[in-house]
Amino acid sequence: MILYNSETKQKEEFKPNNGNEVKMYTCGPTVYNYAHIGNLRTYIFEDILEKALNYLGYNVQRAMNITDVGHLSDDSDYGDDKMVKMAEKEHKSVLDIAAFYTKAFKNDFERLNLKWPETVLPATSCIDTYIEIIKNLIDKGFAYTSNGNVYFDTSKLEKYYRLTNQAQDEMLVAARDEVEQDEAKRNVQDFALWFTKSKFENQALKWDSPWGVGYPGWHIECSGISYKTLGEYLDIHCGGVDNKFPHHTNEIAQSESFLGHHWCNYWFHVEHLNVKDGKMSKSANNFTTVQSLIDNGYDPLVYKFFCLQSHYRKILIFSYEGLDSAQNAYNKLINKISTLNKNDGEVDFEKIKEFEDKFENGLSNDLNTATCITVLFDVLKSDINDVSKLYLIEKFDTVLGLSLTTPKKSVKNEIDEDLKAYILNKIEERKNAKHNKDFATADTIRNELLEKGIELIDTKDGTEFKIK
Ligand code: AMP
Ligand code: ZN
Repeated sequence: MILYNSETKQKEEFKPNNGNEVKMYTCGPTVYNYAHIGNLRTYIFEDILEKALNYLGYNVQRAMNITDVGHLSDDSDYGDDKMVKMAEKEHKSVLDIAAFYTKAFKNDFERLNLKWPETVLPATSCIDTYIEIIKNLIDKGFAYTSNGNVYFDTSKLEKYYRLTNQAQDEMLVAARDEVEQDEAKRNVQDFALWFTKSKFENQALKWDSPWGVGYPGWHIECSGISYKTLGEYLDIHCGGVDNKFPHHTNEIAQSESFLGHHWCNYWFHVEHLNVKDGKMSKSANNFTTVQSLIDNGYDPLVYKFFCLQSHYRKILIFSYEGLDSAQNAYNKLINKISTLNKNDGEVDFEKIKEFEDKFENGLSNDLNTATCITVLFDVLKSDINDVSKLYLIEKFDTVLGLSLTTPKKSVKNEIDEDLKAYILNKIEERKNAKHNKDFATADTIRNELLEKGIELIDTKDGTEFKIK
């Protein structure tokens, strides 16, 4: 298999350390809100990668974290903890918020036919491992305590920037530094491994450590979970392109300094899903969720099909017009497949070889899913018998996961029960607040829902809601 490696910045033949056994790590979500379809573009391609590797004969051992502590509103050490902020806003505990959005994330995986990785660990379940790594880094001189926190000393590395262009990053760090300078750091690009005495007094989850009661930084979580679940050597590490810096750069710094050797051979990064004015993101409030697609009458698999039509390393611009053409093509495919005759003789293994080869070449050529989709249409247009067509389509669908021969029941207007209960509860809270003339609280509830893409509509018969 040929894959583009973001570390060497070239396409390379993929060779795992140990024969056909692949150790794959994928950065998981920070569970403070729903995943948007941009986040899910990354998870869709990670899933395709895993299934493509299986298709090509590899055994994949895959692990993923669920970040429930330590991810600040800036990807670096600035801002508030995203989980704490949402818990305060929703008057819930951090763990309740994490449980709620983890379940929603899992639900999105199911709706998109994505396989849940065999190992998924919440960051809060591996504190001992982070402490073991941090102790080791301090002993070896790669980390230091300052003002109560523990930082990684990036000046101890010969090459800190491994995935990005150094000059550009230094400019970014400098720009950020003008906003808020952490005096405790020896070098501006140093990053926190463990927070104790810090500005985040309201941090709900804290653990004892050799450096005082505190909590881990975001980056150490992935190094720790990867080490704990997959061991000292990784074959491939995945994430969205925005994770290259600082997150993955810092993971490499920590893991290699701790392990004392090269850690991961291939870095797989998925480009962003944009909307017409830039990257789809929670902070820009320009995002769409799987639920909102469903509410607008789209099967989530149409979105998946839309993603698979273009290459994972190209920016993809989301629009409903684009989704409509994907819907047309997907419907054509499904309709055509549904007319195939299951009892039309035997599979012609000689004739199907040509299509199997083309499909395999598409996957092996840096995961060219657009080619794989074209092969599907070619199969349907060809003169091989229906049973052979069905055989191929079912085989290809083990990678594509588009429910091609078993279309899911229509999901139009199907709202997740938990989400519905949550919204109805909020509507009731808002009604009570209005009844008590507490209009500020009523407005806050409305705005909080709006931030999640849920619009309240007051009618003479009560309040209704619409998912945007
Ligand atoms: P987060 O929950 O913010 O940590 O993001 C989860 C994953 O989604 C990470 O791998 C990000 O790199 C990725 N991601 C975030 N925004 C986008 C986007 N607009 N398009 C594609 N991937 C994204
Ligand atoms: Zn990560």
